[in-house]
Amino acid sequence: MKLVFATNNLNKLKEVQEMLPNSIEILSLEDIHCFDEIDETETSLEGNARLKASYITEKFGYNCFADDTGLEVTVLDGKPGVYSARFAGEPSSSENNMQKLLHELKEEENRKAQFRTAICLNLDGKQFLFEGVCKGEILTKKQGIEGFGYDPIFQPKGYDQSFAAMQRNEKNKISHRGLAIEKLVTFLSGYNI
Ligand code: IMP
Repeated sequence: MKLVFATNNLNKLKEVQEMLPNSIEILSLEDIHCFDEIDETETSLEGNARLKASYITEKFGYNCFADDTGLEVTVLDGKPGVYSARFAGEPSSSENNMQKLLHELKEEENRKAQFRTAICLNLDGKQFLFEGVCKGEILTKKQGIEGFGYDPIFQPKGYDQSFAAMQRNEKNKISHRGLAIEKLVTFLSGYNI
């Protein structure tokens, strides 16, 4: 079965393909010659994941899944959430986003936060949602150089280093996206192809 992952992020694609049985071939947007800009205009992670997956299924006729991730900070009522990429405005800058968040939490003792990933799968006319959550806290300053986005200031619960100070495979094992993908893969592996 061919299944489109509505992304052009090759790292994400590779990660998912490696976890799936050979009977499922993952295609990127480029593979299906989709070069459209799919605007993430919804106000929830689930909404954006659904929007992207459904755009591909409706326009190109493929089974497809899409993901969306946000960082949800408790004292900010779940912000930046669905707006994580553009928290400090456009053009999107991880450095500016981190500085803005550190500033907003400057006097704050409660630094609890979580990363949450929503995946929407359109499969044979049905729609399925999967979620992965990684709880942790926002550090008071950056630590580590690996990863991307908010990794240098996010420390997962039960660990004494930030995501950016971890090896990639170590992060993937406990990350929001890793957990959501694991649920998707378990579902697909048991699906009658
Ligand atoms: P996306 O939905 O995967 O594009 O993620 C949206 C935004 O959330 C990114 O631009 C990053 O700012 C942030 N983000 C998503 N996943 C991670 C992660 O694993 N570590 C750090 N930041 C992330």
